[in-house]
Amino acid sequence: MSQLEIKDLHISIGEKPIVKGMNLTIKQGEVHAIMGPNGTGKSTLAKAIAGHPDYTITSGDVLVDGQSILSMEVDERARAGLFLAFQYPSEVPGVSIANFLRAAVQARMAEGEELDATGYYKKLYAKMDLLKIDRKFTSRSVNEGFSGGEKKRCEILQMAMLEPKFSIMDETDSGLDIDALRIVSEGVNALRGATLGVLLITHYQRLLNYIVPDYVHVMYDGRIVKSGDKSLALELEEKGYDWVKKELAKA
Ligand code: ADP
Ligand code: MG
Repeated sequence: MSQLEIKDLHISIGEKPIVKGMNLTIKQGEVHAIMGPNGTGKSTLAKAIAGHPDYTITSGDVLVDGQSILSMEVDERARAGLFLAFQYPSEVPGVSIANFLRAAVQARMAEGEELDATGYYKKLYAKMDLLKIDRKFTSRSVNEGFSGGEKKRCEILQMAMLEPKFSIMDETDSGLDIDALRIVSEGVNALRGATLGVLLITHYQRLLNYIVPDYVHVMYDGRIVKSGDKSLALELEEKGYDWVKKELAKA
């Protein structure tokens, strides 16, 4: 069984430390949620793991099956089994979803390995059926004029096609209207299983009513300050983040 380990990770933006000693291990098959107030470094964590150049990892490590991914190029990270939705361009006019996904799947394959068209379309249609996506959808251009829900549908289909070991999903509240919320939650629930580990980052407690996580972590000031099961998300909804801050002040 594979595991994704985040070990004492410190991340800075410019000179400013944002993530300050983050530790988390995710096994294949598990869904972990990270919650926390705005500005605590949740998106910074996701972007740094995706290899975004503005985010500097100053110490610590991120490992897949014991192998550090930090010196890997973005496509190598994908080949190591990581899926990071936002590593792809937001709009690709004139490129159909079907062709875009085909290129993404090809890029994920080992050097010299070829993707055959018949096999590709068979797999694409099987995944679309699983996710209840209309066949017409894949002839659209990537993200061009997409609603929030359609962007999410494209992202989830991409994730289904790449069959990652670990998916890191950063769901900001703004991106999730009711349609998008439904698509993300149904998609993740359809794909979750023994071979997929999910790190679901959200500010939005309600998402966790639809995607029930195995573990919930609260991030505050750049580190995890509290972990629990799904009941922690309910407790947070009831008591708010001030409750966590007060507990921390007492300790
Ligand atoms: P969260 O996702 O938990 O709301 P972020 O990771 O987006 O938090 O932001 C953490 C901190 O880093 C905030 O203080 C924010 O202002 C700062 N920050 C995020 N992105 C940048 C950036 N590109 N340049 C400068 N500061 C940033
Ligand atoms: Mg964020």
